[in-house]
Amino acid sequence: MSKITIPNIGDQTKAVHAGEFPDPVTGASSPNLVMSTTFIADADTGFSVEGLDDEENWVYTRWGNPTVHQLEVKLAVLEEAETAVAFASGMGAITALLFHLLKAGDHAVVSDVAYAALSEITNEMIPELGVEITKVNTSDIESIRAAIKPNTKLVYVETPCNPLLRLTDIAAVAEVVHAAGAQLAVDSTFATPAATKPLQLGADYVIHSLTKYLGGHGDALGGVILGTKKDLSPLRKKTAIRLGGVISPFNAWLILRGLATFPIRMRVHQENALKVAAYLEQHPKVKRVIYPSLPSHPQYELARRQMKNFSGIITFQVENGKEVAKVLAEKLQIIHYAVSLGHHRSLIFYLHSADLRETSFKFATQAQADSWDEFAGEGIFRLSIGLEDYNDLIADLEQALGD
Ligand SMILES: *Cc1c(COP(=O)(O)O)cnc(C)c1O
Repeated sequence: MSKITIPNIGDQTKAVHAGEFPDPVTGASSPNLVMSTTFIADADTGFSVEGLDDEENWVYTRWGNPTVHQLEVKLAVLEEAETAVAFASGMGAITALLFHLLKAGDHAVVSDVAYAALSEITNEMIPELGVEITKVNTSDIESIRAAIKPNTKLVYVETPCNPLLRLTDIAAVAEVVHAAGAQLAVDSTFATPAATKPLQLGADYVIHSLTKYLGGHGDALGGVILGTKKDLSPLRKKTAIRLGGVISPFNAWLILRGLATFPIRMRVHQENALKVAAYLEQHPKVKRVIYPSLPSHPQYELARRQMKNFSGIITFQVENGKEVAKVLAEKLQIIHYAVSLGHHRSLIFYLHSADLRETSFKFATQAQADSWDEFAGEGIFRLSIGLEDYNDLIADLEQALGD
C-alpha cells in the first residue's frame, strides 16, 4: 500500500490493500504467512525488548512479526488510528490494557453491562489487586460524572454493549473524562469501524475482539488495541511483549484475509439484519425486538448520530425464553445455536437475565436494574445475522418458532 499515491481511497480499497505489499523475494501478490519465531539478527541487537524500536525490525515473534505487523497496519488504517497492537484474543487485549493503565490505589469507571468476562474480572480479580472499580450505566452521562474521583485513571465503555445493544454517546463521555484528566477506552467490537470510529470522537483507546466482525469467519481468535503511538508503544513493550498474550501469525494471516471483505460484509450484515428485525417485530410470539436502526430502539436518535452502519446483531424477547431456546436449538437448520457473533454464519443464543445477574452483572442502584429490565426483560435471544440470503434466515426462524 505504501506505493498507492491516489488520494482519498475508499474503505473497500483500504481493506484490500492496506498493510500489504508483494513479497520482495518471490513477488508473491498475497501476504506471506511468516511462522518463524526467530529472525536472523544483527550482532548489535540487544537482548532486552527495552532496546526495541518501533520500526520493522524482527527479532522474536513475541516482540513483533511481519504477518502480525501487516494485520496491525491494516487495522490502524481502517480505524484511522496512529497504531495498533494485536493480541491473542479480545480478552487478551482488554486485560493488557487494564494491567497497563491501572495500579493499586487507582480507580476506574466501567460499564455496568459489558462483555461478560470483562464484567467478571472487574467484579473480583482487578479489585483484589487494589484497583477500585465503579460500575455505572455509561448511557447516563451524569452517572459517569458522579463516579469520577481524583484518582480515576480510566473510563471503560462498550457501545453498543454486549448483550443489551444499549448505546453510549462517545463524544459526550470523552469530554467529561478528559476534563477530569482520565482516559477513555471504548470496546467497539459490536459497532466495528464501519459504524463508528471512537478515536475520532475523542476516545483514547479502541478495543476490538477480532474474533467477531473483523475476522468475520468464526475460525480465528484475536484482539486489538488501537490508539496513539505515545500511548501504545509503552503498552506494547510492557504488556503485549512481556505478559505475552500476542496473536499467532497464523491467526493474524486468517484475520488479514477476512478483513479484505470487511466493508462489503458489513453492508450485507446490516441489510440482512434489518429484514430479519422487521420480520421479528411483526411475529406474534415476539414481545420486543432491539436493533439500533429500528425507530423502536430507546436510543434511536443517538444511533443515527453515532453509527454509520448498524451491524448485524439483534436481540428479541419471547414468553418462556428458556423453553423456546430448547426448541430453537433443536429445530433451526441454518442458524447455529451457538455463542459468539459477527461471523458469516448466523448464530443465536439465549441469555437468561436472572442467570446473568447471578454470574456477571451486579447492579448497585435500582436505576441500573431498571435499565437492564427495559432492554432485556426476563431474557433475550442474541441473534447475530450472517451473510446467508435473508429470506432463508426468515424461513428458518419461521419454521422453528412456529405460529
Ligand atoms: C467477544 C467479545 C470480547 C472478547 O473477545 P474474545 O476474542 O472472545 O476474547 C470482548 N468484547 C466484546 C464486546 C465481545 O463481543
